[in-house]
Parts: sequence; structure tokens; C-alpha cells
Amino acid sequence: MQLQRERDTRPEIELRRALHRRGLRYRVDLAVVPGTRRRRVDIAFTKAKVAVFVDGCFWHGCPEHGQRHHQINSHYWPDKIAGNRARDLDTSERLRQAGWTVVRIWEHESADTGLGRVTAALKIPSAKTG
Ligand SMILES: [Zn+2]
Repeated sequence: MQLQRERDTRPEIELRRALHRRGLRYRVDLAVVPGTRRRRVDIAFTKAKVAVFVDGCFWHGCPEHGQRHHQINSHYWPDKIAGNRARDLDTSERLRQAGWTVVRIWEHESADTGLGRVTAALKIPSAKTG
């Protein structure tokens, strides 16, 4: 089990590629969460103030896939994951209070789905026209 933050996971890379193909430019792994030093935004659109997180199903307790993993070692993981979820909520709240729009995408969601949610937050069409 990796205990470090998930960095450059496959779903995140695929989403970044989809955004890039769409012509969107962003910063990655940006420490802009107010009042914190170590928390980072996975994909940040700094002008539009849209913060995107790609959350791992296991560590962040995805309702579809988290539970299955939790049963493997139920004495420890629920606390750990509950802590992660509480921190996620706090991170989102801190960003919203600073005027950011927060988009959280589960790692099981497709890059297309993620692209659609990010472009909606950016208030631009998801498909390239013309
Ligand atoms: Zn999931």
C-alpha cells in the first residue's frame, strides 16, 4: 500500500491529456489551498479559479469502490479514509471560500466524463467546434 499522496495517477494523466487536446492550459500540483502548505490542487486553472482533484477510489472512499477495499482490513482503513475524506471536504471548503470552483472526479470516471465536468466549471463547451 502506498502511503504517499497519489501522484500522476493514470486517470489524472488521461484527464490532463484530454484537457490538453481540448486546448486548455493548466497548472498541476499547485499549493494554493488557503491556510495550508502541503495540500495541493491536482489540476488548477488559475485565471478561472477552477480547482480539479482526481480522487483515488480507495484512499478517498469512493461510494462505488471504497467499501469493497475497506472490508479487507476494517480495523484500520475506515479511520484513515474517514480522515482523508474530512480533509478533502476541508480543502474544498477553503478553496470555495477563496473564490474557487472545486471539481472532484473519481479515478473510476472516464477522462471524457472528467473533461465534461471541468469544461462545465470553466463555462466552455466540452467539444471542440470549428
Ligand atoms: Zn470508484
